[in-house]
Formats: sequence, C-alpha cells, structure tokens
Amino acid sequence: MRMPPFQLHTPKSLEEALSIAGELTSGGLEFDWIAGGTDLLPNYKWHLNVKPNVISLAKVSELTELNSTHIGAMVRLHDLANSSTIHPVLAKAADSIASVMIRRSGTVGGNICLDTRCYWFNQTEQWRESIDWCYKCDCGTGADCRVIPNQNTLCVATYQADLAPVLMCLEATIHLAGPNGTRSMALSDFFQLDGITRNVLESGELVTHLTLPDDVSEWQGDYQKLRQRESWDFPEAGVAALWKKNGTSKPEQLRVATTGLESIPMLHSEEVQNALEDWSGADSINKLAESIRKAVKPVQNTWYAPSYRRKMVKVLTRRACAGLLEGDN
Ligand SMILES: Cc1cc2nc3c(=O)[nH]c(=O)nc-3n(C[C@H](O)[C@H](O)[C@H](O)COP(=O)(O)OP(=O)(O)OC[C@H]3O[C@@H](n4cnc5c(N)ncnc54)[C@H](O)[C@@H]3O)c2cc1C
Ligand code: SF4
Repeated sequence: MRMPPFQLHTPKSLEEALSIAGELTSGGLEFDWIAGGTDLLPNYKWHLNVKPNVISLAKVSELTELNSTHIGAMVRLHDLANSSTIHPVLAKAADSIASVMIRRSGTVGGNICLDTRCYWFNQTEQWRESIDWCYKCDCGTGADCRVIPNQNTLCVATYQADLAPVLMCLEATIHLAGPNGTRSMALSDFFQLDGITRNVLESGELVTHLTLPDDVSEWQGDYQKLRQRESWDFPEAGVAALWKKNGTSKPEQLRVATTGLESIPMLHSEEVQNALEDWSGADSINKLAESIRKAVKPVQNTWYAPSYRRKMVKVLTRRACAGLLEGDN
C-alpha cells in the first residue's frame, strides 16, 4: 500500500491557503484539504480518489481557537475531549472517537468533513479491482453501485463521524471560507444526501470554525454509540439527545440526532415534536425511540446488519434520554 505521489502545499495563514486553493481551482487542478490526515491518508494509501495536490492546514494558526462557543476547525479531538470549557456531551463524543493516537492528530474540521464509508469502497485497490470497482471510485469504468445497483446517481455510503449529531443538537453554526468570501449556516444544512458530494462545500472552500449559541451550557444530555470494538471503531450507530428541563418533568426543549445510519447525520425534529405533544416520561421516551428506529434507513454497507443497527438505535435513544427521567417519581 504505497502512498501515491501528490504535491503538498503548506500555507502559513488562512489567506495564503485560500489563495493557493483559488489558483489551483482556477487552473482546473483538483486538490484535497488535509488536517490531521487520519482519514485522508489511509484513503490515499488505498488509492481512493487521490488528487494531484493536497493543501495542509497544519500551520494555519487562525483555525485553532477553542472556547465554550467557538471551535476552530484545526482543534485536535484530544483537546476537545479534554477541554474544561467545552460542553460535556461534546467532550464525551470527542473522547469516543477512534483511539488516543488518532485523537491527537485528528481534528474537528476533519471529523465534520469525514468521507462517507462503505464496505465496497474502503478496501485496497487490488480488492476493489477484483470486484470491478464501484460507482464512488469507478476508475473511469462506469462501475455500478454495489449497494443499490442500476441507478448510479446516488452513493449511499455511510457518514460515520461522532461530533455532528451532538453539534446539531446544540444548534451549532458552521463557518466556511473560500476564494469568493465567507458564509455560515446551521450545521444541519451543511450535509448533502449523497455519499460522494457529502456536503455543500464548493471548490476551494474550507471549514474555518463552528460556533455554539450563548445558552449552550444550559443544555443537558448524552451521546450513545454502537461500535464493533470499544477501543477505536467508527460508530455503527450514534444517538445524541440534548434537552433543557428547568426542574419540570416535561422537557422545555429536546433535540435528538443520529449518525452512522445514512449518508448524512440526521436531526429528528418531527419525531421529537410528536413525543413532546403528550409527554408522559418513560412511555414517551419509548415511543420516541421507536419512531426514530422507524425513521432511519441504514443499508448493508458497514460491519453490522441494517436490522441490528435499527434495533440498536432504539436502545441507544432510550439510553441517551435516560437522564430526562432523573428527578421524576
Ligand atoms: C482506525 C480508525 C478509527 C476511527 N474511528 C473513528 C470514530 O470512532 N469516530 C469518528 O468520528 N471518526 C473515526 N475515525 C476517522 C477520523 O480519524 C476522524 O474522524 C478524524 O476526526 C478526522 O480528522 P482529520 O483531521 O484527521 O481529517 P483528515 O484526514 O485530514 O481529513 C478528512 C476529510 O476532511 C477534509 N477536511 C479536513 N479538514 C477540513 C476543513 N477544515 N475544511 C474542509 N475540509 C476539510 C479532508 O479533505 C478530508 O476529506 C477513525 C479513523 C481511523 C483510522
Ligand atoms: S454506496 Fe455504492 S457507490 Fe457508494 S461506495 Fe458503496 S458501493 Fe460504492
């Protein structure tokens, strides 16, 4: 598994990074951003959609700020997990990612922009060649999608990153910068339902940081994750639940989001709204968990079977919401 050749650019400021990106883009040259490289470099070693140019963000110091409402894209997962100012549920999700070594290199921006994963895609070049490739990396052959064949318009590879559901429940805003300026949006609007496109980033654009609302510390909650090996595996399903309760048995506000089940992380606003309408504690949590089980549509392209992942979403939702019952009699 040799690393294919590429030209590495190492800008020392955001302005320089965007200028290199602008030059490459206007010259019709493809490139990838690289942050910690814990996702991109293994993919490159397997010759998965390698680009001739890579722009490293390692020396761009503007992207490293971290406080309770501002998280720079280059903040390391280890620092997020161990921060005393960051929301504890976000720190918990960060601490569940991969292993200590990967968290030391991996970043928040890389985690949000993590490439989608699929059993037919995350394999060596020889393995993929032996099955005649697939649509996401077809090597010019027009190969079919192996999960949902005969369509080749949509890749259903799975988004398996842990931070997004918690950040979505905390109503994070994501901030982007590109050669044409900056823009911001709710994190839930950032993702796009296609395993190849993945998100709304345009050519030459990058994530600079995320911001959280001022009331972030008033939210309580939990993040629960299913994975094959506790020591380092990607989420096969993940559920974040965040609420504001203010001493009442019915939550004033509740948000639930999932990851590891489709091409994008999902905020389950409708299911939560229905549960809140006639809230009755444990029964409502059960109904909410069942409605989320019905709402998610995993496909057969990760380690565990879709039916098991759906069953476990129900379990994880109940576990993530367990704190809602604290103080109730
Ligand atoms: C063994 C193993 C286990 C893992 N387990 C987990 C897990 O449990 N949970 C989990 O969530 N992840 C897991 N990962 C994936 C990965 O390590 C993390 O998601 C990490 O946060 C990725 O960050 P990075 O900085 O290394 O990203 P990189 O590899 O540098 O980049 C990832 C992608 O994001 C893009 N990118 C990076 N930064 C930016 C930016 N600022 N703007 C725009 N695009 C950007 C890159 O171009 C690339 O496409 C695992 C990886 C490995 C190898
Ligand atoms: S979902 Fe289909 S196109 Fe996408 S990576 Fe898997 S097999 Fe390939």
